[in-house]
Amino acid sequence: MNTAAKSFALVTGASRGIGAAIAKRLAKDGHHVFINYASNEAKAAQIRDAIVSAGGTAELCHFDVSNSAQVDEKLDWIHKSFGPLSVLVNNAGITIDSLLLRLKDDDLRRTLAVDLEGAIYCTRAAAKQMMRARQGSIIQISSVIGESGNAGQSGYAAAKAGLIGFSKSIAKELGSRQVRVNVVTPGFIETDMTGALTESQKEAILQTIPLGYLGAADDVSSLVAFLASGASRYITGQVIGVNGGMYM
Ligand code: NAP
Repeated sequence: MNTAAKSFALVTGASRGIGAAIAKRLAKDGHHVFINYASNEAKAAQIRDAIVSAGGTAELCHFDVSNSAQVDEKLDWIHKSFGPLSVLVNNAGITIDSLLLRLKDDDLRRTLAVDLEGAIYCTRAAAKQMMRARQGSIIQISSVIGESGNAGQSGYAAAKAGLIGFSKSIAKELGSRQVRVNVVTPGFIETDMTGALTESQKEAILQTIPLGYLGAADDVSSLVAFLASGASRYITGQVIGVNGGMYM
């Protein structure tokens, strides 16, 4: 595979849902994409095969974002074997919903470890490469829940809101090296994560969305593609919603 003169993009949690759509879109835009996943190797391989069949280049990159040693090792491997990352999309995420009084310590720790610490570990490792190269775009996939809050999702909201504060801070740290950091906050997007909702829950959510329908993964991937591109070169430290108007 000829990866010379390619731009390298890592998308975490790219085996399914929003991450898979982002990986496909970045590959279509000419990036060599590293498809990270936690356990679903078969699905990640399907995404890679779809990218290659469409004329793009990609490869699998297995690690648990919540394990900082694994993150450092894999990002170091990318840097040494290919070159510095130009794009990092921190998309991997989980939600373990519970009302506060029933919130279990382990569930809270796991949510913060994957959704917040995982994004911080990946950002730290990628920033090292990008700062030296004096270029890069880091895109965090947070959530409308981190902006508006939601009963029953306090742990998830804490992680996703934390990601916003973290990203604004590092946008200030990394800006002088031309490394941009932006946050995308999707609303309700149809994926496995929202597939668990009942019809009546979906109906209730639809009432809160001015555009009147749930979003698709490509509604998010098209914004990510813009933020990854030079067309957004003067945009950093921003939080941009893709939510059909449900939070303004
Ligand atoms: P999804 O369909 O459940 O997919 C989650 C992805 O994250 C999978 O690829 C999964 O890999 C990966 N992942 C989970 N834990 C990981 C870990 N420890 N290390 C590496 N990868 C891990 O989720 P989605 O709906 O596409 O959501 C993607 C992101 O968008 C999440 O951050 C989510 O919070 C955010 N978001 C989603 C919505 C929505 O409505 N769907 C709304 C707002 C924000 P495996 O396949 O290997 O398990």
